[in-house]
Amino acid sequence: MDEISLKALAKINLGLDVLGKREDGYHEVRMVMQTIHLYDRVEIKKTRSPHIHVETNLYYLPVNEDNLVYRAAKLMKDEFQIKEGVRIVLQKFIPVAAGMAGGSSDAAAAFVGVNRIFGLGLSEEDLMKRAVKVGADVPYCVMRGTALAEGIGEKLTRLPRVPQCYVLVGKPGVNVSTKTAYENLKLDDPAVVHPDIDGMVTAIREGDLDGMISRMGNVFEPGIIGKYPVIQEIKDLMENHGARKAMMSGSGPTVFGIFDSREKMEQAAAVLRESKLAKTVFATEVF
Ligand code: ATP
Repeated sequence: MDEISLKALAKINLGLDVLGKREDGYHEVRMVMQTIHLYDRVEIKKTRSPHIHVETNLYYLPVNEDNLVYRAAKLMKDEFQIKEGVRIVLQKFIPVAAGMAGGSSDAAAAFVGVNRIFGLGLSEEDLMKRAVKVGADVPYCVMRGTALAEGIGEKLTRLPRVPQCYVLVGKPGVNVSTKTAYENLKLDDPAVVHPDIDGMVTAIREGDLDGMISRMGNVFEPGIIGKYPVIQEIKDLMENHGARKAMMSGSGPTVFGIFDSREKMEQAAAVLRESKLAKTVFATEVF
């Protein structure tokens, strides 16, 4: 096999809590991660020249070692002393810097792809151990599905699939870096509401969609919505048009709404597109 084409799937956070800052500067988190059917396309081809060559449809993304796919490929090439090179063509659809782990998922696809085309025979667990060196969310993106993520996001417990539901994604035209999200999070403020992650995990284990939805929460929301009220407007629009619940994903600004029927979701998607509150809108479902 000389080339492979993979889907790098996006994630949403059904629940996101931050417990505190560790001595090494990283934050201790507890998150319920869910893969959705929105993806970038990652094509990887063996080349005779020894270089890693990255191409993408988004002119503003780096194509050198600052691109996470480059880092993943380099790590594998160095460890396994691979003489040949790779040409990676990255077609981005997942909004960038949006709280949907786009870059991390691309990197996960690079690990999986390099393993396959060079016949390295690494297991999923082997890949996940290496993936954390590229980013805290990359091991989860290798694993996919529904999971509880703890530590800095790398300690994963697989959960059963959530009951079938539909996910409307809307990204407003603002950008929020993870750094900004942490700067606006005041963990010592007693008013901070920590979502009930344990309750959500139990609900998912019991296949209880209502229980899961009632526990959705993101500790970053108040700080970011304070700065960007459009996030609240998108949430309200989704909830006024049939979403069982709408919430910001990760460090934002992307909002997703959970629907129990595709039809209701499509109707809400049409209203959201018309409203122009969101720059990009995707109507999709859980993986
Ligand atoms: P997360 O949900 O993990 O916080 P995110 O959605 O906030 O991720 P990404 O889209 O993964 O953020 O990427 C954010 C930054 O990483 C961008 O500013 C970009 O320059 C850099 N980057 C590196 N590699 C990639 C890639 N393959 N795709 C997108 N961004 C990348």
